Amino acid sequence: MKEAILYARDVGEEVDCRLCNHRCRIAEGKRGFCLVRENRRGTLYSLVYGRLVACHVEFIEKKPLYHFLPGSRSYSIATAGCNFRCPWCQNWRISRVDGRDDFQGLAYTEPARVVQTALLENCESVCYTYTEPTIFMEYALDTARLARKQGLKNLFVTNGYQTPEALEAMRGLIDAANVDLKSFSDGFYRRYCRARLQPVLDTIRNMHKAGLHVEVTTLLVPGRNDSDSELRQVASFLVGISRDLPWHVTRFHPDYRDTEMKPTPVETMKRAVEIGRQEGLRFVYAGNIMLAEANDTACPECGHVVIRRSGLGRTRCDLDGSRCPECGAGLPIVTS
Ligand code: SF4
Repeated sequence: MKEAILYARDVGEEVDCRLCNHRCRIAEGKRGFCLVRENRRGTLYSLVYGRLVACHVEFIEKKPLYHFLPGSRSYSIATAGCNFRCPWCQNWRISRVDGRDDFQGLAYTEPARVVQTALLENCESVCYTYTEPTIFMEYALDTARLARKQGLKNLFVTNGYQTPEALEAMRGLIDAANVDLKSFSDGFYRRYCRARLQPVLDTIRNMHKAGLHVEVTTLLVPGRNDSDSELRQVASFLVGISRDLPWHVTRFHPDYRDTEMKPTPVETMKRAVEIGRQEGLRFVYAGNIMLAEANDTACPECGHVVIRRSGLGRTRCDLDGSRCPECGAGLPIVTS
């Protein structure tokens, strides 16, 4: 167990957790909404520090991050737990925890070991992913600090529900993030995720403002968030931040509690890409689906394909640094 960051003692032995926008007030002996942070006699503890439930070497495209160190390997880790409750969660086996789990039966992996493995595996980054990394922030930041000293980058794949205080703690340690923008409807967030929309919008804007490399993903859930008007709202919000912000629309596959539903129709995927482009985004990608050229990066100035992606990890770059080799235009792609 590790004492948590970003909490304050309230009356008596109650504590206020300030890590995510649930801002749980936690009574003595109880846990927060994520079920992995517990108040013991007025001290808040992370129960999952170093208790990894997933660690894999993956290409960065799998995150997905398409404009950050393309084609590189990333050591990807997770602990158990989540602060959302999406009924279609693809990682529910590790994101859903029981409020009685103490996680102490899981092997402990110290941060230095994660960094060492990442280096041995020729990774260029460590990625905090699969579940929601905010809920294991202490472990992520301790690891990120060591990783950075060894020249590795640090990536978050996140639902964007961090508080501004948590974003401040990440500043200077986390280099890039893929943030889920699951919908543009607060009702959707409340009903399906047990969260709210506005904090996620704020996070995307604030991360970009703070200089993190940001990409955004929207999983298209048939009939729930895929209307033209909602897709336009998402795209236009992103354009308002930067038309260079990559938007990944990804295909839904039935999982967890939503096994009766159908995958996102191919036509919906194409429509979303089209809408993103019409609204002014210069880089829109379609994920979890085989669509010709839907994952290639073309130079917006001359149309030359600068990155061709044919399946995860098979990436062919034709870049001159971060420039298009055909017309010389500067591209918003981080290559080193
Ligand atoms: S991380 Fe979020 S869900 Fe977990 S205890 Fe803190 S405020 Fe609550």
